[in-house]
Amino acid sequence: MDHFLYRDGALFAEDVPISEIAAAVGTPFYVYSTATLLRHFRLFDEALEGTDHLVCFAMKAASNQAILKTLAQAGAGMDVVSQGEYLRARAAGVPGERIVFSGVGKTAEEIRIALTGGIRQFNVESEPEMEVINAVAQELGVVAPITIRVNPDVDAKTHAKIATGKSENKFGIPIARAREVYARAAALKGLDVVGIDVHIGSQLTDLEPFRLAYQKVAELTGTLREDGHNIRRLDLGGGLGIPYTRSNEAPPLPVEYGRMVKETLGHLGCEIEIEPGRLIAGNAGQLVSRVIYLKSGEGRDFLILDAAMNDLIRPAMYEAHHDIVPVQEPAAGTESQPYDIVGPVCETGDTFAKQRDLPPLAAGDLVSFRSAGAYGAVMASEYNSRPLIPEVLVHGDQFAVIRARPAFDEMINRDTIPEWL
Ligand SMILES: *Cc1c(COP(=O)(O)O)cnc(C)c1O
Repeated sequence: MDHFLYRDGALFAEDVPISEIAAAVGTPFYVYSTATLLRHFRLFDEALEGTDHLVCFAMKAASNQAILKTLAQAGAGMDVVSQGEYLRARAAGVPGERIVFSGVGKTAEEIRIALTGGIRQFNVESEPEMEVINAVAQELGVVAPITIRVNPDVDAKTHAKIATGKSENKFGIPIARAREVYARAAALKGLDVVGIDVHIGSQLTDLEPFRLAYQKVAELTGTLREDGHNIRRLDLGGGLGIPYTRSNEAPPLPVEYGRMVKETLGHLGCEIEIEPGRLIAGNAGQLVSRVIYLKSGEGRDFLILDAAMNDLIRPAMYEAHHDIVPVQEPAAGTESQPYDIVGPVCETGDTFAKQRDLPPLAAGDLVSFRSAGAYGAVMASEYNSRPLIPEVLVHGDQFAVIRARPAFDEMINRDTIPEWL
């Protein structure tokens, strides 16, 4: 459920008409609903009630500080994957002890920044990285809390570009080698081995791959404890999928996921961390765009929008589907017609949807891409010298621009011309 609904024929974000935001900030723009963000966070928090836990928002899904602050004030931690994300989380007021650091390529500098600024744990992805964390920690005279990410070799049954838990993927260490790697970690004085980490992929629509992975983690917890490791924290990653269309089968709910977590791991007495990104932010944000032209081609009509693949790359990159809805609700009984919905960028890949049925639309009309709150704005680029688009946060009947549209000069003046020209 989200808070983007029609009222009297107009699409609203909570209590604000989308058309009012469009008039104030221009198009295209991203708009997020505070109530939806909080609702999704709380669904996870409540699903793990009764176990010691922390929900760490995977901020790579949506990293605007206003979004981070909204979630952090409700009690969320953050899962970061770069120095930039770490610093952004800190700037949004998230304390270091609520930040976990994931990612396969943490540099010594990133590790130093996090150790100096405060960190809950590093999720270690390889043996060389483990050695570097140890070295940096010893140099700083501190002990770095770590988990080791194990690759459970399960098929997440999701899009190949977002599956991470098969042995051929670059993530984690093979679970079969875990005992050896944990033994090495325990011997390093700069490390405190606190637990195990696993993350098998994104947009999972079935609980079974999670269950298989978590069963392997439960078994490994027992083995490592027998080996003398004090395993007390399990980071289970993110990955629970969202419904991208209103018609298709609904993915499992956080409450069902939480029940499965308790079933597979509850007996171990460990603190549980989860790192959902998409499920918290995905349906909490939409991309609003205006039709520039209606172009009639041979046998098909193109809706050319002012948003493009540089603003929302998911359709081009993952063949992702986004429901696209008119901001002005069509009158009951209006006949739909098929459109190819495209952006102005000079690539055939700049196609959002083919032969999508929509009510008749014309130049100047507003449309909204649903489920664009995760992996939308954060993946945007300035391709075709199109400035990054604004982000707006709605809270009840208020809205605020949380990232302004830059002036063209701001974008252009970042280039510097060498002296010899
Ligand atoms: C991407 C990622 C997540 C979040 O995945 P979602 O599908 O957005 O929930 C969590 N943890 C790690 C390590 C990730 O790489």
